[in-house]
Amino acid sequence: MKCPKCGAEDNTVIDTRKYNTVISRVRLCEKCQHIFSTKENIDSDFSHSGYNKRSNNQPDDQCELFDPMEEN
Ligand SMILES: [Zn+2]
Repeated sequence: MKCPKCGAEDNTVIDTRKYNTVISRVRLCEKCQHIFSTKENIDSDFSHSGYNKRSNNQPDDQCELFDPMEEN
């Protein structure tokens, strides 16, 4: 996730708020200290049963987008 101010990709999540289908994260840029927020939409219609079968051998970091769903 790039900082909108300086474009650096190094940032820290300092707060996470979870709504029904949206996860909002507050991030702190480690380069310019700019604070910004990002939102992730959870696609409840997404068929992850088939996805999991195909991705069993994939490293976890390739499933980063779906980590919030695993917290449920
Ligand atoms: Zn920045």
